[in-house]
Amino acid sequence: MARVRTPVAIPDVRRIRATRAIVNLDAIEANVRALRTALPNTCKLMAVVKADGYGHGAPWIARAALISGASLLGVATVWEGQTLRAHGISAPIVLLGSIDAAEAESACQTALEITVADETLLVAVQRAVRSQAHKEPMPVHLKIDTGLRRYGATAEAAAALAAKIAADPLLRLASVFTHFASADEPSDPFTREQLKEFQQAVATIRADGAPLPPLHTANSAGILTGMGTHYDIARAGIALYGVPPSVDVALKPGMRPALSVESRITRIIPVAPGDTVGYNRTFRAAAPMRGALVPIGYADGYRRALSGRAWVGIDGRRAPVLGRVSMDQIVVEVPGEVEATVGDVVQIFGGGEAAAAPSVVDMAELMGSNAYEVIVGLRARVPRVFIRNGEVVAVSDAIRIGVEK
Ligand SMILES: *Cc1c(COP(=O)(O)O)cnc(C)c1O
Repeated sequence: MARVRTPVAIPDVRRIRATRAIVNLDAIEANVRALRTALPNTCKLMAVVKADGYGHGAPWIARAALISGASLLGVATVWEGQTLRAHGISAPIVLLGSIDAAEAESACQTALEITVADETLLVAVQRAVRSQAHKEPMPVHLKIDTGLRRYGATAEAAAALAAKIAADPLLRLASVFTHFASADEPSDPFTREQLKEFQQAVATIRADGAPLPPLHTANSAGILTGMGTHYDIARAGIALYGVPPSVDVALKPGMRPALSVESRITRIIPVAPGDTVGYNRTFRAAAPMRGALVPIGYADGYRRALSGRAWVGIDGRRAPVLGRVSMDQIVVEVPGEVEATVGDVVQIFGGGEAAAAPSVVDMAELMGSNAYEVIVGLRARVPRVFIRNGEVVAVSDAIRIGVEK
């Protein structure tokens, strides 16, 4: 019987944990190129690699994105930016969201570009810059709230902040931007309203005499639908990873998911009629069957909500999860026609149709969540194996952090 081949069969990779994420850097690079094609030549691409590159391994994703057409990086926390710097990445790194004023100093120390939306943080940045010896003015970004009601200044406050930044010789206004609330619902007219609001706010800034900095609005959904891509920068997160932002927004041709998760069978469990499987005995066998123990659980990000609902792929067949997902293990039913043995590969999600596992989008549906949470939720104890041209080029895991081959 034909077996699904292990995508990676390199000896020292076998020695890491059987449950691992396979990150295809060719897919990341193809996705970046496809996104670039969707953008005007004058528009720079920011690769959003917050949350450890949406769970893929930020330093590797950042490097792949930078060599294939991205020129800036976006993160959420100072630690995320510092991790990229520790990996030798020198590209501009923008902190996209709010940080506490007390974090400004360490952000500036590692040349992370802070996004301000109020006086308090701007003053903290000014103080941090004065306490350090920077040769060039420190780039700062200004966020305008046009309707998301999350992070961002009002149009009037933004004009005042822009003027203050322009007046400070140690600062440079590196960009002004806003963020869409519903760009992943292309039929919602709110995105257009936000663009109008943004244009008006920008005009106010200009009226104050400051030279116009680069502007940006588009996230992945914006890039894929063409909303707000006429500005100077576009910020791609989810699409970079080959996952559509929503069911209403399609990827461009050639884009594909970079992430898949696989494991191996560690035990075959004979299950007799009437036996129950797992905690709280939520599954009861009606007929004899073979269970397969797979070492992945909710501590890996394989959510408990998948109990009795999800399936995995074994030998190109669907194998349903029996009963509850435990912290570290699941039991699946070996399909009748499959001759499974200990050590066989189990496709947890991703891997294309032949693998018979749920896609990231299927997982989102099964979890009652969105695709973002599926990939971001993969925990650090799942090692990441990076492949390029079918070859393992790096392994990153929580124990041997960033082992390069
Ligand atoms: C996370 C984030 C993005 C990326 O959004 P995607 O939908 O993943 O493309 C863009 N801009 C900001 C401000 C963000 O916080």
